[in-house]
Amino acid sequence: MSLAARTDESLEATDPEVASLIADEVRRQSETLCLIPSENHASQAVLEATASVLTNKYSEGYPGKRYYEGQQVVDRVEALAIERATSLFGADHANVQPYSGSPANLAIYLALLQPGDTVMGMSLPMGGHLTHGWGVSLTGKWFNAVAYDVGRDTGRVDLDQVRELARAERPKLIFCGGTAIPRAIDFEGFAAIAEEVGAMLVADIAHIAGLVAGGAHASPVGHAPIISTTTHKTLRGPRGAMLLCDEEHATAIDRAVFPGLQGGPHNHTTAAIAVALGEASRPDFSDYAHQVVANGKALAAALVERGFDLVSGGTDNHLVLIDLTAKDVPGKVAAQALDRAGLTLNYNMVPFDPRKPFDPSGVRLGTPAVTTRGMAEPEMESIARWIDEGVDAARSGSEHEIERVGQEVRELAAGFPIPVAA
Ligand SMILES: *Cc1c(COP(=O)(O)O)cnc(C)c1O
Repeated sequence: MSLAARTDESLEATDPEVASLIADEVRRQSETLCLIPSENHASQAVLEATASVLTNKYSEGYPGKRYYEGQQVVDRVEALAIERATSLFGADHANVQPYSGSPANLAIYLALLQPGDTVMGMSLPMGGHLTHGWGVSLTGKWFNAVAYDVGRDTGRVDLDQVRELARAERPKLIFCGGTAIPRAIDFEGFAAIAEEVGAMLVADIAHIAGLVAGGAHASPVGHAPIISTTTHKTLRGPRGAMLLCDEEHATAIDRAVFPGLQGGPHNHTTAAIAVALGEASRPDFSDYAHQVVANGKALAAALVERGFDLVSGGTDNHLVLIDLTAKDVPGKVAAQALDRAGLTLNYNMVPFDPRKPFDPSGVRLGTPAVTTRGMAEPEMESIARWIDEGVDAARSGSEHEIERVGQEVRELAAGFPIPVAA
């Protein structure tokens, strides 16, 4: 008789402490509205694959070329994920092993550069990512990083400035993409600049991969030879990442991920990535991607109508960046008050922010998670009103008003359940 047959080995039975923490988190996510643009609600199918016995298996190497035996199934799982990734995005090659977006980007440096080489990316406070050469990151410490900004008046990337900087600095690698960019990325424009200065263009589409897959944002394929993405943001898969590239760079990218940077891939994550890519290839995912953008625009318009100052004046995608300077409430105070009202978002630097990163002027919000729950334009109107009321309450210090908003948020949230593991 097996041990499992004799005893209840469920998490609930064996570790009620962790089980109850997970139950608390299910409740928190269910009763609040997630407006963090990098978060989402993965499907039950993705959650199930993530929780599978594939987590037990070591498989250093790639399908057909492994360093351990017993790969009969894992090889098929990884080959399926690769096949789905290349066909969904139309790329020559996919590596689905990076543990997350940051290591995926490090693999690109390892594949293409030597320490001290010049790389160019959008500066972090303007909306870039740490791994695009910011000073506290390895990428800023071990490489000569130069950064482009957004226009002070427009809040948008100015390709003329990018070109000027690229001509002056001659980077080997240029990153486009970032974490707080409310506007469409002009991959073609970046590609022309990279070509002109002989640089490699990398498109980091971590935030917008789901929009690209669903046809709600232009694709970098054909413009950027190397594309990096997380799988857990708009793409709505498990926490993980992928590198897509042309045939020419496939071997260098694969070698950089393994054995250059990582050991065994996380096979349970690979399976869940395959599930998410399968979901993303279906027509209803395209509907979701377009609704994410429609909701972004509706939320932005409703906020502008209520007198909010948005970086770049609005959005083309899933993300809205509010500059709260004119509202006279620091970003952190607003974010914490809204969190108490059940609206989860994050405080964020705005371009040319006079305040500090840990106490900046803005908040960043996004529509992927609420769109996954089935919300549409009418709900965006309500969310904009609650943000307005919550920010006012934060300024006046009215905890009673925050509690009232929270009550309304909970009522709406109850009508839009989140997917959970079986
Ligand atoms: C989220 C993000 C990353 C990093 O992903 P992690 O999985 O958090 O390491 C990299 N680049 C961009 C543009 C991102 O938005």
